[in-house]
Amino acid sequence: SASPLGQSVIPLVNKLQDIFAQLDTQSTIELPQVAVVGSQSSGKSSVLEALVGRDFLPRGSDICTRRPLVLQLLQTKRKADGTDEEYGEFLHLPGNRFYNFSEIRKEIQAETEREAGGNKGVSDKQIRLKIFSPNVLDITLVDLPGLTKVPVGDQPSDIEAQIRKMIMSYIKFPSCLILAVSPANADLANSDALQMAGMADPDGHRTIGVITKLDIMDRGTDACNLLLGKVIPLQLGYVGVVNRSQEDILFNRSIKDALEAEEKFFSSRPIYNGLADQCGVPQLAKKLNQILVQHIKSVLPGLNSRISSALVSVAKEYASYGEVTEKVGQGALLLKILSQYSQAMSSLVEGKNEEMITS
Ligand code: GDP
Ligand code: MG
Repeated sequence: SASPLGQSVIPLVNKLQDIFAQLDTQSTIELPQVAVVGSQSSGKSSVLEALVGRDFLPRGSDICTRRPLVLQLLQTKRKADGTDEEYGEFLHLPGNRFYNFSEIRKEIQAETEREAGGNKGVSDKQIRLKIFSPNVLDITLVDLPGLTKVPVGDQPSDIEAQIRKMIMSYIKFPSCLILAVSPANADLANSDALQMAGMADPDGHRTIGVITKLDIMDRGTDACNLLLGKVIPLQLGYVGVVNRSQEDILFNRSIKDALEAEEKFFSSRPIYNGLADQCGVPQLAKKLNQILVQHIKSVLPGLNSRISSALVSVAKEYASYGEVTEKVGQGALLLKILSQYSQAMSSLVEGKNEEMITS
């Protein structure tokens, strides 16, 4: 089954990329990167993993993510017999396909230690991992070390400044979407995630607030005010999630079970009923998808006009030979399809129509 992230965008991006391939142009759709920020153990790796729908990231109560992990998801064609082949490949181990995702986790840990040592040290040298699967959309996710204040182990005395600088070097780009992760059991007013995201994206056009650990809030409290933006308002709003606990990790609870447990958590608490569209990993994926579709929509007119002008010049060239060729006719047809896509996408963005044009 498809990962929660990309269920509505995959068919769209596929179709468009098919069109571009036929048109023989340089134009393609580049999706923005998505990076997670937040303090250590806020649940960043857990959120990314849930979005991808596979178990492969080091997670835990201690510092786990000690180097930036640039995770490139690449969509492959489904095999004729319908079986899905999914594998990972590291830049530092070219040609070595990891079909077993817990081996991927082990290699991330080993490679972290090779560069950053065995004692909690942090390095800004990236680990680059590609995941090939028919169930993902082509997008790059970045898992980053969390913010900490007090140096431990081999960490230098300026560890906080170093990690801030590292995070900023990713989220400063206007094309980077920021998942600002804050745990529900800490004071949001002190959230490192929102503080850093606010510096990189002061207008809040590309920051989604993610509130984790709703399951371990103090008894008698809930996250409604946080989710509603009453504590700290956020332009694109917040989504609350329940990831696997440390105990779940020890007992090897699967992502699928965790998603079911999350569903049950929200449906059994009436206080969250009115906020259903802001609760759960599937809603987070939906929100991200909507933003990606918006992004595609915003770059399409540019692609459209580039293709149009390419066609005009080709047409002129052939007209000078006094013939109208098949290629020009074909190009015009594809252009027409493309503009239909723009329209289909507008309605998708406005939530009117989930169907894609199939012709
Ligand atoms: P990171 O340091 O921000 O990447 O955080 P991790 O994803 O490694 O998670 C840190 C710890 O918090 C792990 O032990 C997770 O099991 C736990 N954790 C993360 N999210 C939740 C959640 O929503 N609920 C509970 N109970 N535990 C969580
Ligand atoms: Mg982490």
